Amino acid sequence: MMAEGMDAAALHATLLALDTHIDIPWPAGPDFFADTPRDQTGRRVDLPKMRAGGMKAGCFAAYVPQGPRTPDGWEAASSRALAMLDAINAMGRQDGSARVASTADAVEAAHRDGATAIIPAVENGHAMGEDLGLLAAFRAKGARYLTLTHNGHNALADSSNPRKDLGDAETLHGGLSELGRAAVGELNRLGMLVDVSHVSRQGALQATMLSRTPVLATHSCIRALCDVARNVDDLMLDALRDCEGMVNITAVPSFVRPGGRADGVTVSDYVDHIDYVVKRCGLAHVGISSDFDGGGGFSGWRDASESGNLTAELVRRGYSAAEIAALWGGNFLRLLRRAEEAADAG
Ligand SMILES: [Zn+2]
Repeated sequence: MMAEGMDAAALHATLLALDTHIDIPWPAGPDFFADTPRDQTGRRVDLPKMRAGGMKAGCFAAYVPQGPRTPDGWEAASSRALAMLDAINAMGRQDGSARVASTADAVEAAHRDGATAIIPAVENGHAMGEDLGLLAAFRAKGARYLTLTHNGHNALADSSNPRKDLGDAETLHGGLSELGRAAVGELNRLGMLVDVSHVSRQGALQATMLSRTPVLATHSCIRALCDVARNVDDLMLDALRDCEGMVNITAVPSFVRPGGRADGVTVSDYVDHIDYVVKRCGLAHVGISSDFDGGGGFSGWRDASESGNLTAELVRRGYSAAEIAALWGGNFLRLLRRAEEAADAG
């Protein structure tokens, strides 16, 4: 337990606080290095806000919306993902204030050096179309995880949210397709984590059975507390625990509380989801994500500059400094290392 009177702000300043899912504006929007106001045109995450909020690292996603599963659709998706990864890489700076860090060691080294760590990722396996070789191209641009789907089924897997407007039935593959299974193997080989946020329950369960490395949901909430298809139910939660993976609770208001709105959901509501996983699965299997600039944010955690409020609530609930450090990034770095070891082992 935290010592009486522990200063949450002082603790927060020392943490390697890492957010496992952040979107970037696309086509390119306000500059990452400028502190733009948080409004319709601004960003919830930029370097000044990360620094003001004690955020030391973030996974920035090259997000591709689901489109037609056709050669033209796949070409557009892969071009966009590669261009977005280039934009994410451009968030590294010569002056050392921010740098791309694609391994757990590199993230820790950036923290020691006082540089903000930028960890690239790809959201939606649609970005590789039917070409497994593109995963190595994403990895070459630093990507450390692939979210297998977004909303809508793709060539790899079924989504938790089928897109009727794209002609989706409830299921397309019964979970993972043959290509999706091959993609999991290729991700393992490359040292990229398999992300099952957005993936159908069946597909997510299959991925946890198949992957040689721990699987995670980089930005999802708990279905027992908020019953939406996109959230992780108890069976999935147990499967993530059993593969030594994790769920990173996300800050999208309607996933935190049923019908939740940004001005009604609170930090306390969010931390309830963390508590739930800690009680059911243990502290090693949960972490923190915002989905800022992709729908995340609520009163008390509206942008990266307010991240210290989460630490304050965790202190208030009696979590120790070591536990809070694990929640804020230690657990995720453990998963990165497991993926790196598996890749090295071949
Ligand atoms: Zn997402």
